[in-house]
Amino acid sequence: MRRLLVVGNWKLNGTLSSTKELLTGVLGGMSEVTAADVGVCPPYPYLLPAAELLQGSAVALGAQDVCDQDVGAFTGEVSAPMLVDVGCSLVIVGHSERRSIYGESDEFTAKKFAAAQRSGLTPILCVGETLDEREQGVTETVVARQLDAVVALAGMDALATAVIAYEPVWAIGTGKTASPEQAQDVHAFIRQRLAASNEAVASKVQILYGGSVKPGNAAELFAKPDIDGGLIGGASLKAEDFLGICSAVK
Ligand code: PEP
Repeated sequence: MRRLLVVGNWKLNGTLSSTKELLTGVLGGMSEVTAADVGVCPPYPYLLPAAELLQGSAVALGAQDVCDQDVGAFTGEVSAPMLVDVGCSLVIVGHSERRSIYGESDEFTAKKFAAAQRSGLTPILCVGETLDEREQGVTETVVARQLDAVVALAGMDALATAVIAYEPVWAIGTGKTASPEQAQDVHAFIRQRLAASNEAVASKVQILYGGSVKPGNAAELFAKPDIDGGLIGGASLKAEDFLGICSAVK
């Protein structure tokens, strides 16, 4: 039985004081969250203060990205060992904003995935199609290609200690949520594709849904058999909404 996982991706938002306020709000409501593990991914500069606030709590700390290299002359980058050093256990890799705005390829994403695992972080590998790709009927081809790049570099067994997030690009930050059936179809496809190589890994890996999840639609999405929680953008910036999503399933 896979446990639900709900992770907030705070993106490029907040200040030091608003970050502390948001975290304090989340921590204050955690006693109501019984059926899900919870994580938050603040911007890099706020990871250390966040780690201090989260100490001893059930909320895991994650970063939104990671360098594919561990150390050296890579100006502006943040490595997986650094993230571990400040208290992170999770890291998002291959978010569609990294892929589309910063041109990060499937292969580069796979290197970041491997870097995260080398240091003991759990990567949350984001996959998903654009609206154009959905309309062309190539959703499964795109998702398979994104997954295969990681499997080619890191191996199938690496997915046993990773999380996958299916995030249709057309549903991110747009207010358009994939219907529970649309999301379930792609989640089932991902699981079946993994099962074709390794059933044990496929049945264990958590596959999160991301794309305009809110307190009002979370329960229906999370009730689907292959949806194991959510990666939450906009709605994770308000403690009440985020907690509403985390406690959507009792
Ligand atoms: C995201 O960016 O990972 C995301 C799911 O955003 P939102 O919930 O705002 O659609």
